[in-house]
Amino acid sequence: MAVFACAGCSAVLTVPVSRVELPDHVHQQYGYGLLPAAMEPGTYAVDPHPGGPPWLAWEEVGKAGAAARGWHARRDVVSDGPRGRIVLAPGDVRGTVPVPEWDDGHCCGLAGMNGPNMMCGRCGLAVATRIDDCGLWQAVWLEPQAVRRVDDGAERPVAGWAELLEDPPWIPPVEESGRWSPRWAASAAVALAHLLAASGGAGVALPRGRLFSLTLGRAVREPVPAGSPAKTLAPAGPGLPDAHADIVMVPRHPQTGEPWARAAGTIVPLAAGVWFPLAFPRERRPAPRATDGEAAGDFMEGATMPPDRTFRPDGKVFLQTLARLPAVREPWLRAIYERCRSAPWSAPFQ
Ligand SMILES: [Zn+2]
Ligand SMILES: [Zn+2]
Repeated sequence: MAVFACAGCSAVLTVPVSRVELPDHVHQQYGYGLLPAAMEPGTYAVDPHPGGPPWLAWEEVGKAGAAARGWHARRDVVSDGPRGRIVLAPGDVRGTVPVPEWDDGHCCGLAGMNGPNMMCGRCGLAVATRIDDCGLWQAVWLEPQAVRRVDDGAERPVAGWAELLEDPPWIPPVEESGRWSPRWAASAAVALAHLLAASGGAGVALPRGRLFSLTLGRAVREPVPAGSPAKTLAPAGPGLPDAHADIVMVPRHPQTGEPWARAAGTIVPLAAGVWFPLAFPRERRPAPRATDGEAAGDFMEGATMPPDRTFRPDGKVFLQTLARLPAVREPWLRAIYERCRSAPWSAPFQ
């Protein structure tokens, strides 16, 4: 397990935490209310891309500068902050003092847009940025240059896929309130961007399945050009028979983020917590209210009522993911990117 300490005075700043993949929703902005912690207790993740201030205007950065920071399509602003920021749940942080005066532009909480807003409780070094404003997943981001790992002892072993199949990562698609899960909205948006790039601009024939049809299925029908499907899509992964499709949707490992590797065909990676419910929809209490003309029943685990509105992948997460893929340089995909960017509230995002 990792323990992070202040680089200035060695004060311990976290409980022991084990590494997991960076969640799709970690940079998501959702609704207007307060959101829970982005990370599960006892875990941390690392963002490989530059994050936080300074923020540069697109004109300042230039195409080459943007590509060096992992962007392949136009953005409003680009972070020139450090790579390798470490994110964890606020409850796993110790020995820090919030400095709200360092944070401007917040509403109900801290937004962290202008850099660290927490200092080391012992030496006063700016060590972390807390984010808990409305519409943002609560998190603490440790500044990579201000902390160091002090415990390189035993890491939690990486679970095998067979092990994961027994107790699969599982994000319920619908929350207790009857609202579609925001984490599904983020992960579907990430998968949609990869799926578009994998399609090469051809239509995609979708796999059967009610949950798939209501979520990713609806989403992928919108931005893809009309016409007869030219490519097939199927889920592939642990516990499924071999898929015979042009494009296979595989789970990403919840700890390493590595896509399941034993598939033939072009791969679209999907967060494991979303992939498992899609690949193995459990038959549950039927809930007869119709959504999109289809009964929404078999995935209602834990929910008290069926979803009352259409599923929408997160438009900003979609654009962010697409802009990270080199394929977005291709004119047909660039056209979709620019169209969604200029009308972010159009279908399937609204
Ligand atoms: Zn607010
Ligand atoms: Zn310190």
